Amino acid sequence: MPGERILIIEDEVKIARFVELELQYEGYSVEQEHDGRIGLERATAGSYDLIILDVMLPSLNGMEILRRLRQSSETPVIMLTAKDEITDKVMGLDIGADDYMTKPFAIEELLARIRSALKRKKAPAQGCKTLAIGPLEIDPDKHSVTFNKQEVDLTKKEYDLLKYLVENKNIAITREQVLEKVWGYDYCGDTNVVDVYIRYLRSKLDDRYNTKLIHTVRGVGYILKYE
Ligand code: CA
Repeated sequence: MPGERILIIEDEVKIARFVELELQYEGYSVEQEHDGRIGLERATAGSYDLIILDVMLPSLNGMEILRRLRQSSETPVIMLTAKDEITDKVMGLDIGADDYMTKPFAIEELLARIRSALKRKKAPAQGCKTLAIGPLEIDPDKHSVTFNKQEVDLTKKEYDLLKYLVENKNIAITREQVLEKVWGYDYCGDTNVVDVYIRYLRSKLDDRYNTKLIHTVRGVGYILKYE
């Protein structure tokens, strides 16, 4: 929707300027910042609808900015990473980035991901009743997850993924379905991020509580069941 406010934190002035112009052309209200530390201050103080955040920045890197920002803000963040920063990419998602783009990227793709992140932000929480499978319970109102009444600490994306799995318990779902429903768009081919998140959830649930909720369905994807 036109007028939504976007902050770009990117020290490569050419890229920042290019993205700014494209976003302005789409009707967004855009600001840019080239320094990491000042970027964090602006991100924290300003009321932005979305933040585009580069990883490698002077004075404070993007990962640290994201980590600190997430202590007080749920503003959608799309990270920009270089090709050789795969680990950063995964780490960024783990500490609460909504999405990432690998540089160089097509501006159309960035625009699509921005629209998608903004749409998710606005989507009202659906369903108010508690979701459960076995000893696992999700309270969508409180955004909380418990196992045997013990609080389970999940990142935003882990929570979204788990919620989707519980809503579809006892049904085999494909990685593509997960990407579409949890990440909100068709990822062309790269479904690795789903496996990465399934690993996070397994370690926080199956391994930690010595149970088996998340099952791999060979050639299909995953199924959540409790026996
Ligand atoms: Ca940079």
